[in-house]
Formats: sequence, C-alpha cells, structure tokens
Amino acid sequence: MGGFFGAASKRDVVMDVFFGVDYHSHLGTRRAGMIFCDEGGTGFQREIHSIENTPFRTRFEDDLPGFHGRSGIGCISDTDPQPLLVRSHLGTFALTTVGAINNAEALVEAYFSGGGKQFMAMSSGEVNTTELVAALINQQGDFVSGIKFAQEAVEGSLTLLVMTNDGTIIAARDRRGRLPVLVGEDDDGHCISFESFAYHKLGYRDAYELGPGEIVRVDAEGFETISPAGPDMKICAFLWVYYGYPNSNYEGVNVEVMRYRNGAIMARDETARNTLPDVDYVAGVPDSGVPHAIGYSSESGAPFGRPFIKYTPTWPRSFMPANQDVRNRVAKMKLIPVPELIREKRLLFVDDSIVRGTQLRGTVDYLYESGAAEVHMRSACPPIMFGCKYLSFSRSRSEMELIARRVVQDLEGDEGQRHLDEYADASTERGKCLLSSICKQMGFDSLGYQSLDGMLEAIGIDRDKVCTYCWNGRE
Ligand code: SF4
Repeated sequence: MGGFFGAASKRDVVMDVFFGVDYHSHLGTRRAGMIFCDEGGTGFQREIHSIENTPFRTRFEDDLPGFHGRSGIGCISDTDPQPLLVRSHLGTFALTTVGAINNAEALVEAYFSGGGKQFMAMSSGEVNTTELVAALINQQGDFVSGIKFAQEAVEGSLTLLVMTNDGTIIAARDRRGRLPVLVGEDDDGHCISFESFAYHKLGYRDAYELGPGEIVRVDAEGFETISPAGPDMKICAFLWVYYGYPNSNYEGVNVEVMRYRNGAIMARDETARNTLPDVDYVAGVPDSGVPHAIGYSSESGAPFGRPFIKYTPTWPRSFMPANQDVRNRVAKMKLIPVPELIREKRLLFVDDSIVRGTQLRGTVDYLYESGAAEVHMRSACPPIMFGCKYLSFSRSRSEMELIARRVVQDLEGDEGQRHLDEYADASTERGKCLLSSICKQMGFDSLGYQSLDGMLEAIGIDRDKVCTYCWNGRE
C-alpha cells in the first residue's frame, strides 16, 4: 500500500507536506520521502529514508531546516524508495506512485527490447517500480499522454503525483479509481491527498475528488482537469472496512460512520435470522474492529466493552515490523487484557476481517485460558477468497494462506475451489459448512461473517462502483 500528499501554495509548504505525509503513516512501513521545488529556480531538495524502525516524523525532523519551497510532494511507501527525481525530454520532474504493477518484469523486458536502455537495479536486482512508471511516462510527448500510456500498460493499478520544475503538481487517479485522490484548498493554495482528514487538519477545505482515471493539474492559483474521468470505478471496499483512517471520507462516505453502520447491519441481520447470541459484552479487535463492534452493540442492545486494550504509547502502528513471526509476537504484546471483563464472561468479538486466522486463534486460546465463559466471533466482511491483485495490500498473501481457501480445500479438495461463490455466501449449504468448519477449527462458540450485500449496504455508494474482488473474484 502507501499514500501521498502534495501542496502548491503562495507560501512555504514544507510543514504542510511534512504533517500531510505523516498523516499517511498508517498506510505503509518501509520507505518515505519528501521533495520540494524551489520557485527561485535553484532546483529540488529531496530526502528519502527507511521508516521500518523509526516513525516518519522522527525520521524527517532533522531534514526540515534544509527544506524550503512553495511546492512539494511526499509519500509513505510499502515498496521502493521514492519520490524519484527524473530528467527527460519532458523536463526535470519528481514522481511518486501508489498501487501494484503485476506485469513489471514484462514491462521491463519490453522497454529493453529497443536496445540501449537501462534501469538502476536495486540490491534485490529488481527495478524500482516508480522508475519503471517514469520510463513509461517518458515514452510519450507530454505528461497526460505519458500518464495514460503508463496506466494502460500496467496490470494492477497506478495512482500518482508528478511535480514539475515550476512547482506544478499533476495528480492522476488509477483508471478504475481503486484508491482515492482528493484536492483541498485554502486561501493561499491547494493540496492533493489520499486521506481527506490530513488536509482538514492542516486547515484546507474540501475542493474536489478525482474520478477514476482523471488527471488534474494543481498549482497555487487553482486546479483544472486535464484529462477527464472515465466511466468505470472500482474503489477498494477495504478502505472502509479496514485500512482507511476513521476520520477520512471517500466518495463522500466517512470511514468511522460506515463501520458503525456495518456493525449495526450485521446485528440487524442476525436478529432477523435469530442467530444473535446472548452475551455480556460486544468488543472490537483493536483498532479497526472497534467501530464495527460499536455499531453491532448499539443495534443488538448488548453493552460494548473493551476486554482488550491496545498499548499505544510504544506500539502505535498496526503493520510493523515486516517479519511475520515478529509481527505475531508484536500483535500479542500490544493487546493488554482486562481480566475483570473476561473471567466468566460471554464475549462477542468483532474483527475487521478474518484473513489467516493465526493471530485470532492465539487470542481465543488466551481468552479461554483466562476464564472466558463463551467467545463468539464476527467478521465485518465476508470470507476472503482471493488475494488482492490491484494494490500492494499487506494482508493479501498467497491464496492458500487465506483461512477460507484452506478450509474449502480441506472440505472438498480441488472441486471446492470451483464453488467459491457458494462458499462465500453463508446462506448456501456450502457457505454454512465453511462457517461451521472455521468456527470449529478456531474454537469459537459461534462465528458469523458480514454478507457481501450487508457490507455494500453499509458503504452505501452504487455497488457497481466498489471493488469486491477479495470476496467474489469479480473484476
Ligand atoms: S481486491 Fe480487495 S483489497 Fe484489492 S482493491 Fe479490491 S477490495 Fe481492495
């Protein structure tokens, strides 16, 4: 994943970009960078650092005195070092990208086929994907044609910011709008952001939300569409369910509000099916499970409680570190129980999703060892059947690592993989069978998943505009 922030203004924007990028820290853990354009024509100033062990703000604080400029862009990246500074027939420009390029090797080979071309190789031997995008953009005669050419060529998704040497920022949203891109404005200029709350907090007002494939030019004076939006959008549903920041709005829908609504819909549907268990507390698995649980609790009438509280002072981020074993350990260390709310209590937990099930299994075992009378589990989205191929989404791994796919394989072997749509629907026989098998394997007293219809109802925008590939494999 990753995120970006840029600003072009009549005043210096270093602090805006610094805090704006920092507010995207929940979207990535590997690299971050900022670059500023000096309107005096003395060039660009740029820094890129690893943020694997040190948070963005601490990592970049010492660089601030050396930065100045009325235009700047920056990013949090889960992939390669960026923003890159590129010189070509289009001029000198900075580039940052978010998305996934699944055909990178083929694009690199196609680029080499003309002869006499090269990329800087990273220590892994691979090409920096942002450099690859720059090479694609540079194959055309202007930025709009180049960005469209790159977006057409990429299998996956590509959302990007360009900053030219006169301080103009060009923002392009992915062709299917998998991720959001928003423009904010204040009295001095404009900003571009993935998260809307980032610029609200900096005093910018909502100005515009790019449509799918739209390209917009932004400077201190204003913004204008230089390539119109396409007709088809598939914005990622997981923005609302899991990784979007609660204060943000995408397509006009606030994340926190969607999560309350989602939890309430789950409880409403369970009441109708008569499967609502009698519990002492409804709780959320921190952080993103909590608002879903608040919605579930309000609708079901069961009190909301916090039998686990996250230790935030030194474990503020949800993804780090990169190693899975260490991450599991960290996840365990972060959650501190409240024994008085666990012992002899009937608990219903809501998690944002159930991906591999390993961490959850550990939590459930702990709850029973701590004397919980019952542990019921609810997932705020349907069973995940497919890994994401549109974003570098940390939770999507090999499909057989997904607990739902593993259980389908155990139940029916390869034949089962042909009926994933039925398995994903808890109202079918196969769906019921999957549910009870996972429930048994994980040791829950009961298990429920939000339905696809329920989740889309909670998001509330035209369902054809939402990507649901993770759950139903539909592109
Ligand atoms: S496949 Fe899943 S994670 Fe990827 S964009 Fe679609 S909904 Fe989001």
